[in-house]
Amino acid sequence: MDAPPREWFDTDYYRVLGVSESASQKEITKAYRALARELHPDANPGDVAAEDRFKEVSSAYDVVGDADKRARYDEVRRLGPMAGAFGGGGGFGPGGGFPGGVSFDASDLSDLFGGLFTRGRPGGPQRSSTGPRRGSDVEADLTMSFVDAAHGATTTVNVTSEVRCPDCFGSGAAVGTSPRTCPDCRGTGSVVEDQGPFSFSRPCTSCGGRGRIIDTPCTTCGGIGAVRRPRQVKVRIPEGVKDGQRIRVKGRGGAGANGGPDGDLYVRVHVDAHSRFGRDGDNLTVTVPVSFAQAALGAEVPVPTLDGGSVTIRIPAGTQSGRTFRIRGRGMTTSKGTGDLMATVELSVPTDLTDAERSAIEALADATQPAPAAASGGEAEDA
Ligand SMILES: [Zn+2]
Ligand SMILES: [Zn+2]
Repeated sequence: MDAPPREWFDTDYYRVLGVSESASQKEITKAYRALARELHPDANPGDVAAEDRFKEVSSAYDVVGDADKRARYDEVRRLGPMAGAFGGGGGFGPGGGFPGGVSFDASDLSDLFGGLFTRGRPGGPQRSSTGPRRGSDVEADLTMSFVDAAHGATTTVNVTSEVRCPDCFGSGAAVGTSPRTCPDCRGTGSVVEDQGPFSFSRPCTSCGGRGRIIDTPCTTCGGIGAVRRPRQVKVRIPEGVKDGQRIRVKGRGGAGANGGPDGDLYVRVHVDAHSRFGRDGDNLTVTVPVSFAQAALGAEVPVPTLDGGSVTIRIPAGTQSGRTFRIRGRGMTTSKGTGDLMATVELSVPTDLTDAERSAIEALADATQPAPAAASGGEAEDA
């Protein structure tokens, strides 16, 4: 016989389903169906607490919803941890056994027997609704200008999430009262039960494993200690943030429960396009118009920089339209360093010519060989 899964010692599946230990299979199925409908993730999108409860309820029904498994579960719980491992004999082989009254915790036993009780465990760690639970992660969107994204900014984002209840400060007890220590487990959340020569611990049913009892629940949060509220979170966006990048703000997500840590906030940054500059990795791109004369003869050309200034580059004689020049260290600065500014020259063709310009260009045309396309009689075509 396989060792029973460790959850069987830790979890009261009847309590999870809200039925008594003597409930019929039919009553168990009915209770499970009602809970599953209520807690199904489709009915509670994004609700982590409901999702956890849904998983618990499913695991519980997986065991006590099956008559054979349920019988074994009941036996294990009646006889203690040794029931499954040693065929229900309750002892260590012939004449064995620990002296009466020695107390074992199920987790201690699993260490003692090298993971005997973790065999056959259903996949993945299971989170209990009673233990400390980490708050949910929360996402927020933030739109920034191209220049703000380049420089980084400290700003506020609007977030709606679970926060510690402002009236009971998370205790769940009504204003002016406080939770009292559970007398049955003396605040530990688990009780040790004697089962013949062995004893083992299981969650305290009086306090639901919390170790505290709230006599008068806080009316604001209904005793949960957390409420869903819109709030503003100040976030520091680092310089050089990219469009679509997610910035993690540790501990600013949903409030944790039962002493668990708070979740994280993820800010998804949307960066507006710039009228002049583009971005390619850590490089900035910019288009610089040049005249035919500048391109043909070579010239010093000013290139705008993102900070509003400019740098001058020298383009050589005979520069073709579309050629790109690299200006080192004038790109986007990020935590990894600073990229380059990539300036692409674009031949600018005048549309309104003065008489003097017209005659100069006509003189140029007379003095110039025809362009290759014209010489071969080809049609001009836009790209
Ligand atoms: Zn409250
Ligand atoms: Zn208790």
